[in-house]
Amino acid sequence: MTAADAADASDSPPAADVPAAAAVGEPVPDASKADAATEVAELDPAVRWRSRLIVTGVAVALALPVQLLATASPDFAEHVYARRIYPVVATVLNLITGWLPFSLAELILVGLTGVTAFRVGRASVALVRRRRRPRRVLGWGVATALPAVAIAWAALVLLWGVNYRRPPLAESLDLDASSPTVQELEAAAVELVELANRLREDPRIVEDAAGAIRFPEGAREALARAPRGYEPLAEELPELIGPAYGPPKPVLGSAVMSYLSTTGIFIPYTGEANVNVTAPPSRLPFIASHELAHQQGFAAEDEASYVAWRACRRHPDADYAYSGAFMAALHVESALAKADPAAFARVRARWSAACLRDLAAYASWFDAYDTPVGDLSDAVNDTYLKLQGKEGVASYGRLVLLLVAERRTRERSAR
Ligand SMILES: [Zn+2]
Repeated sequence: MTAADAADASDSPPAADVPAAAAVGEPVPDASKADAATEVAELDPAVRWRSRLIVTGVAVALALPVQLLATASPDFAEHVYARRIYPVVATVLNLITGWLPFSLAELILVGLTGVTAFRVGRASVALVRRRRRPRRVLGWGVATALPAVAIAWAALVLLWGVNYRRPPLAESLDLDASSPTVQELEAAAVELVELANRLREDPRIVEDAAGAIRFPEGAREALARAPRGYEPLAEELPELIGPAYGPPKPVLGSAVMSYLSTTGIFIPYTGEANVNVTAPPSRLPFIASHELAHQQGFAAEDEASYVAWRACRRHPDADYAYSGAFMAALHVESALAKADPAAFARVRARWSAACLRDLAAYASWFDAYDTPVGDLSDAVNDTYLKLQGKEGVASYGRLVLLLVAERRTRERSAR
């Protein structure tokens, strides 16, 4: 059925009336008319308001108490939800989606976008042709969107979102994450740059024609190795890290993600860690580990990155170990650049030639996809994080606090 068909059927009876009309001996409407009648029912908010309100109410009634309890009690979020309920959720979701070689979430997203575009387009055509009153179309829009939004929100909360209410990771790990001095920042940056330089020397690392790191087997295959860092990390932090769930999924529309300034996205509905495979090899292992940290139940961005750093550090493969140090060094270095440009220059001069080639490859990837759409996408993500009660994109910088805190704890225990 096309949009024009629906518009032409504006005077047909609602679908629910069809069997009654047939029962009193009137001619049974042919298939196309019945179809048209269904369209009308869909465009008539009065027909389905009650069932839609019930669905909306049930979704809110299931998720709201859990959300309020988790907000009031981070202990509930940590010890009941994150450590007992969420591992069951993650295991079940990954039994369903983990074995698929592609991202089910991406498939669903494309399908939903298509269906939504079609339905909105059809309603717009009906409106433009003045077959519908604007108020009626608006009512249809609200009646359709309300239960969908309520179910999406409730599922987000129950399947993963409670993890946002966990107490800070620094607390669970007993780290002193207070604001660092410039000296502490510089010392941490130097240590990380030297670690990255050293790891880059590993003979297992292979280079492309320009001398930048590349994956020996290709990005998609390299992604499948990401969970291996979580196995030793689970032994190190058994209270916080569960078994490795499903592997990260390569996104088919990775180039689109690049233009949207998005390197990865964890989809709680399918439990899938989706990764943009156009990302440079110096960064991709860190991104994959970051998305797996979300899958492990670390919702906050800065904390997911910190867990990623620790997973990369324990990863048996040279490219993953290097990527973790490379990205951690870049984060601390950029915080230092704001605090003390002269100190930043001193640290920058310490990078090895090989790491600088990786930095150049990273910069050219970034330039290739730098668009205003990316800025818009950042703003959307920022709003999403703020709605979750988080500090938005700026909180990514808090990774630096955890990296410095880790070094601080090490120094104190060495004394
Ligand atoms: Zn993230």
